[in-house]
Amino acid sequence: MSVEREIPYKIYLEESEMPVAWYNLRADMKKKPAPMLNPQTLQPATIDELSAVFCKELAEQELNTTDAYIPIPEGIRSFYKMYRPAPLVRAYCLEKHLGTPAKIYYKFEGNNTSGSHKLNSAIAQAYYAKKQGLKGVTTETGAGQWGTALSMACSYFDLDCKVFMVKVSYEQKPFRREVMRTYGASVTPSPSETTAVGRKILAAHPGTGGSLGCAVSEAVECATSQEGYRYVLGSVLNQVALHQSVIGLETKAALDKYGVKADIIIGCAGGGSNLAGLIAPFAGEKLRGEADYRFIAVEPASCPSFTRGKYAYDYCDTGMICPLAKMYTLGCDFMPAPHHAGGLRYHGMNSMLSELYDQGILEATTVKQTEVFQAAVEFARVEGILPAPESSHAIRVAMDEAIKCKETGEEKTIVFGLTGTGYFDMVAYEKHNNGTLTDYIPTDEEIAAALSKLPKVD
Ligand SMILES: *Cc1c(COP(=O)(O)O)cnc(C)c1O
Repeated sequence: MSVEREIPYKIYLEESEMPVAWYNLRADMKKKPAPMLNPQTLQPATIDELSAVFCKELAEQELNTTDAYIPIPEGIRSFYKMYRPAPLVRAYCLEKHLGTPAKIYYKFEGNNTSGSHKLNSAIAQAYYAKKQGLKGVTTETGAGQWGTALSMACSYFDLDCKVFMVKVSYEQKPFRREVMRTYGASVTPSPSETTAVGRKILAAHPGTGGSLGCAVSEAVECATSQEGYRYVLGSVLNQVALHQSVIGLETKAALDKYGVKADIIIGCAGGGSNLAGLIAPFAGEKLRGEADYRFIAVEPASCPSFTRGKYAYDYCDTGMICPLAKMYTLGCDFMPAPHHAGGLRYHGMNSMLSELYDQGILEATTVKQTEVFQAAVEFARVEGILPAPESSHAIRVAMDEAIKCKETGEEKTIVFGLTGTGYFDMVAYEKHNNGTLTDYIPTDEEIAAALSKLPKVD
């Protein structure tokens, strides 16, 4: 297969330096991520099969491993223009605070109402759903970032948006819930009486606070039992990683313009979408032998998919309707400890990043949540942005790398992804401020128990 490297148009809009095409890193990988499998037949999933689950064009993007550039439709670009390009900021105050010779840059994705990078893919998924003539989409949300982003995107394209929100979050995070409703989404606390699976769970566990797995099952049932609806996911899939490549393309355009070459690129990793997007064009250079970089994925010690998981086929969704992906996973039943406050609780990792990690192109490390919140507070005080706990995993490691430079005197350039703001995470900040935040690291037995339930695929 030949790799389509020709771009028939300029890659950036002249007036704003915003990308006009997404970059598909898989095209530059000699060894591609393993194919997705149909969960019933365990054979590689075809476009037709995937189209029953995803919109047609998103299914094509999911399976496209050969086109390096995929044009961003005008309808999506005009939405991106409201909040992109996102700023690439030199963290002068943080450098001074740390006394490091390193140069630190961060790409800030919190500059929109949903407060995170998730809007970059939400708007693309809503666009293709609208184009295909669907009535609406369903999804689950825990902390609420994905649900909020999807609500904004659906409102823009006048699509119905049904969000199943884990009941405890629904009750404890009324502000996120109201942002979603302000954008016209219907938000249902899960488990609910509106689905068969919800009624069953409520009958068995009256008064339960719900779980992400249960909310997924309700969202899936809601989509599959109604004409014109699809269930959508905000991370882990390669289509989501593709949409997030706008982060990396803009970062590269800005660094090239400043004449700066990054040495280390760092991102937090939940399902891996922001990290995949941030490193994409740089990883392309590395794979083609044009430049070298260190890429570091940062995950919570309480949910260590890369560092303690297994590279195996697993379900992407707890509802087990999406195709299986080969990825670093802790098993789709894995649940991080309840007092884990920092997000990034997804059980698996994007399959493209998993393959890069397996090939040694990408490194991974874990951090504990108490260290993460210390970094978050230091960053908030010197750089002025109150970071999301998820993003603060990347801040922690960027600071640690900058401190190492202080010890060795090396003037490295460190770039990290600041994926969002933390205004809706003040309960977690409150615990940090009160000194009641604790660390939890799962035991080998707990991880082995979750891994023993992986689907059997040869
Ligand atoms: C969802 C989220 C993440 C993690 O998701 P990825 O798919 O791993 O990027 C990170 N930061 C913020 C602010 C988020 O909302």
